[in-house]
Amino acid sequence: MPTTTSKTLFRDVSILDSTGADPYRGDVLVEGDRITAVGSVDPSRTDGARVVEGRGRTLMSGLCDAHTHFTWNNSADLDGLGTMPVEEHLLFAIESARTYIDSGYTMCLGAASAKDRLDVVCRDAINAGRIPGPRYLANGPEIAVTGGALIKSITKFADGPEGMRKAVRELIDIGVDQIKLSMTGEEITGTQRAEDTYFSDEEVAAAVAEAHRRGKRVCAHARSAESVKMCVRHHVDVIYHASFTDAEGMDMLEANKDWVFVAPGINWLVATLYEAEAFGFPQEAAEAVGYKKELEMAIAGLREMHRRGIKVLPGGDYGFAWTPHGTYARDLQHFVELLGFTPMEAIISATAWGGEIMLRPDELGKVQPGYLADLLLVDGDPLADITVLQDRTKLHYIMKDGKFHKEAGDDVAATPPLPGNVDRNQAPAGV
Ligand SMILES: [Zn+2]
Repeated sequence: MPTTTSKTLFRDVSILDSTGADPYRGDVLVEGDRITAVGSVDPSRTDGARVVEGRGRTLMSGLCDAHTHFTWNNSADLDGLGTMPVEEHLLFAIESARTYIDSGYTMCLGAASAKDRLDVVCRDAINAGRIPGPRYLANGPEIAVTGGALIKSITKFADGPEGMRKAVRELIDIGVDQIKLSMTGEEITGTQRAEDTYFSDEEVAAAVAEAHRRGKRVCAHARSAESVKMCVRHHVDVIYHASFTDAEGMDMLEANKDWVFVAPGINWLVATLYEAEAFGFPQEAAEAVGYKKELEMAIAGLREMHRRGIKVLPGGDYGFAWTPHGTYARDLQHFVELLGFTPMEAIISATAWGGEIMLRPDELGKVQPGYLADLLLVDGDPLADITVLQDRTKLHYIMKDGKFHKEAGDDVAATPPLPGNVDRNQAPAGV
């Protein structure tokens, strides 16, 4: 039996390709798991393709969340992340993975798992095609030093360089793709201040050296000015939050912008300050512990990072009661409204830079020939209204690896097969 490669032709779409070019009308051909032609497609190549009539809808790359927690369980009870039984927790994580791809996210960088192997088994199940979900780089429990945990029940404790080495080795042994260091506090804990820095230089250096030796990356919860500088000094690959970056830290980030990524998780600050009242954390309480000041400092610092060309990526800490799963694309709106990104810049940071942070810049995050076919067909223009990406009903088609995860079946056509050719993955009308 000859094998056939599945083909899909997106015809007459507005191509938002994440190269920075303005969108333009054209066709995009997908063969197997790859995009093989963009713009004008030679009709001889579309023989037997399934055709999706774009009618001018936007075709763009799937989105990336640079700070993902499949295991954060939409609760206001932070300790509940530790006490939730592992069976229920795995089911929840599987549901989160599906919610991400349902929301147009085809790339996610795991930023800590509430229990040892939840992230790892979800990643493997997604890769094996057993459950739907984004491409995922898995994490383990976050590492903290004694007295420096944000939520003790989900923390892996380590102290001193030797302790760090052992903790990193144990996490690599269970199969994580990156290591999370929880270097500073977080005001909502009531005891751990955001501007406290708990790690020593020796501990960060040991953790990073051990992870990099094994080809794994390190990310860090780093809110304080000192923690940001510590991250850059020791080559922590992905810096989360960076709220209190000072002038020296800003210069260090700029001098290292060829490799460092900052993912602020800005929606966490916005929502914790303004939207957590129904969950027992009113705005006055949030202001009293410093979230208003932190948000203001973070906005000023992140705008400056953007101005200096430091890579700032959206995503972060969805999965608390006031930052529920499925609302991920709020980050892009904040990037535009708060951080001074144009809608095009926000989309590039969520797509092309997403490909970079996933370590696959030449095949993820752009609508270009040779790239993997992770695509969204959006009913609307995200450049005119970035909030359209928050409306799942506007995401008419979601494709990952050349396969549809979601399809609005009312506009599927098939090109007539050439004489002598039959079959080839034509979808029946109405599917
Ligand atoms: Zn987080």
